[in-house]
Amino acid sequence: MYEKTQNILRMAKESNTSVIAFICMDYIMARSVVYAAEKTNTPAIVMLYPEHVSVQHTTGICNYATMVKELAGEVNVPIGLHADHDYSYGAVVRSMNAGFDSIMIDGSMHSLEKNISITKEVVIKAHSLNVCVEGEIGHVGLAKEDADSREDLYTKPEVAKKFCDETGVDALAVSIGNAHGEYKSIPKLDIKRLEEIHDMTDVPLVLHGGSGIPDNQLLIAFSKGINKFNLGTEFLGRYYSAMEEYINVNKYNSNPVKIIDLPEYVQSRLQPYLENRLRTLCRF
Ligand SMILES: [Zn+2]
Repeated sequence: MYEKTQNILRMAKESNTSVIAFICMDYIMARSVVYAAEKTNTPAIVMLYPEHVSVQHTTGICNYATMVKELAGEVNVPIGLHADHDYSYGAVVRSMNAGFDSIMIDGSMHSLEKNISITKEVVIKAHSLNVCVEGEIGHVGLAKEDADSREDLYTKPEVAKKFCDETGVDALAVSIGNAHGEYKSIPKLDIKRLEEIHDMTDVPLVLHGGSGIPDNQLLIAFSKGINKFNLGTEFLGRYYSAMEEYINVNKYNSNPVKIIDLPEYVQSRLQPYLENRLRTLCRF
């Protein structure tokens, strides 16, 4: 069933666990997430990375929101919808107009003052439309640039408090040793810093750059204030491998119409991976 992301975040906070928000670039990925959630009876969020609309064109933005709501209606477990990293007021408005009731405004590359002012403007508009807003403080950079070990980018607890107080965000992405993309070496989350941020703030905290962080670290983070966990790179890699496998299996089949069986095949490969992630990491 379709559920507002705000409500799923509340459930996660109450259960002292984290919902997983999976980056899905198309119907095959979204459907795999929805059915893995159903199979494990675990709430999940289907998340659009807006560049997949504006740069890679793997989906359309209005279609995407409609697609997720339709898929959610096929199952009994709560499924949320969220638009990841938008960088401007205009981009956020586009996501909200397309039917997203949960968005992220990422002003973390700006100065604190500018990040606060952009985020605040978005929150006022979003809350008038009953839309949930995730902001980011500190900066989650790129793993390929070793951002996970750059403490100057980490979230400072007192700044996180100021940011939440002044903007009114509903969720907060933090930088505690996490980074986007593939890590060069095993990341080490700064759990002490997370605890301090959690003590000083009241909103669900969000961990980006989830691919490659060991499960034991994730479970500790989830028990200390992380209530939403974004998974993209690893899932996209699994998608690629499943496609490759299908092509290898059908290499000598001369019937090109065989392509129509690809979505079912790929889903059958993705679902066990997703079920494992949900069973292992979520405690609703
Ligand atoms: Zn991110």
